[in-house]
Amino acid sequence: LTSEEQAVLDEIEEKEVDFLRLQFTDILGTVKNVAVPARQAEKAFTEGIYFDGSSIEGFVRIQESDMRLKPDPETFAVLPWRTDDQAAAGRMICDVINTSTGEPFEGDPRYVLKQALDHAEELGYEVNMAPEPEFFLFEQDEDGYATTEFADKGGYFDVAPKDLASDVRRDIIYALEDMGFEIEASHHEVAEGQYEINFEYDDALTTADNVATFRTVVRAVAAQHDLHATFMPKPVPKINGSGMHTHMSLMKDGENAFHDGDDEFDLSDTAHSYLAGVLDHAPAICAVTDPTVNSYKRLVPGYEAPVYVAWSDRNRSALIRKPAARIPAASRIEARFPDPSCNPYLAFAALIEAGLDGIERDLDAPDPIRENIYEFDEEKREEYGIETLPTNLGEAVDALEEDETILSALGPHISEKFVEAKSQEFEEYLVDVSQWELDRYLDTY
Ligand code: GLN
Ligand code: MG
Ligand code: MG
Ligand code: MG
Repeated sequence: LTSEEQAVLDEIEEKEVDFLRLQFTDILGTVKNVAVPARQAEKAFTEGIYFDGSSIEGFVRIQESDMRLKPDPETFAVLPWRTDDQAAAGRMICDVINTSTGEPFEGDPRYVLKQALDHAEELGYEVNMAPEPEFFLFEQDEDGYATTEFADKGGYFDVAPKDLASDVRRDIIYALEDMGFEIEASHHEVAEGQYEINFEYDDALTTADNVATFRTVVRAVAAQHDLHATFMPKPVPKINGSGMHTHMSLMKDGENAFHDGDDEFDLSDTAHSYLAGVLDHAPAICAVTDPTVNSYKRLVPGYEAPVYVAWSDRNRSALIRKPAARIPAASRIEARFPDPSCNPYLAFAALIEAGLDGIERDLDAPDPIRENIYEFDEEKREEYGIETLPTNLGEAVDALEEDETILSALGPHISEKFVEAKSQEFEEYLVDVSQWELDRYLDTY
């Protein structure tokens, strides 16, 4: 055992942890776990835990279904939402190993991200990421099913006995802190019932792990308060949707490789090229960072979500924004198009490979757009050379299928499964008849 693995065993002993959840995600980003008695922790480290991969979305074909989970000791945390009379449970995030080759399984999203980080490292970079996941809290009905009634509706003026939503938000933050999160800020978002909790930036792998954990914790704590938390991008029409803005920077030799104090925007050539790479591949990245039919209901003009492929150091209608940074270490770019329904491992891998491609091709970023792009007409967009993001999942998948850089970021196994799953999802949507159509046509025709 390594010293880190031994430290986990000691902590299990000391905190009287009875059960261990071994966690990983499928291609769609759904967190899966296998529970084992904590006394199997040592075996989990030395031999791994075997499971049947054929039942996990997009993992394998039936005939090659044996997979092994290899827990990452650095991700050990005691789950905070057990009550005192329940036994303590711990969790570790795992890498997935192909038992027939003993090699990392190429269908494991965490492996895909590690590959992108290896590529960055070959070029001398470490990648930092900080996401801003937004979410809604909704009431449940009597049977415990989610509604779209805001948890804090009328909270300001109503004579409610207590503000349920701020209680639950506080409990979410306590639970996250128990699991080792550094919470920077939390605020009520623009829409009713909508929130954002920001946690500290970290290396890209830790941050992707954190996003997976964050969604689990938010849902679990909300459910304890009989509320439904959702990361669905646009649950209610005509109000803001939920994004997951993602701040990124590269480090080289311990310094922020995105900073250049002599540049008008404090951004280095490296940052400009990275940014240009992300803009260049944006339509294909969209399939990964905005991977649901519903994602494209958020990417429409007027609700602070981007629609056009441009960057800005000022306004928030752009795809990428350069946030003001008080110190050189904080120079970074913010991708505003991802939403929290994405698989964070795949989304980060796609963004990073696009950026690295920009660096390797030495691309120049276009001039930033300082006006509100929502107000541009088509002519003005053409004049500025501004493209539009895909307007639906089908277009995004088409763009992905054409983009070798993003396909190879995902690797052949995940690319194939992902395109297959998302094409099917879009086709199902196309043949469905929606409430909107019934309301609009049933009486008229
Ligand atoms: N909710 C907006 C989005 O969809 C962002 C709002 C904000 O953080 N200023 O991206
Ligand atoms: Mg924010
Ligand atoms: Mg926000
Ligand atoms: Mg933001």
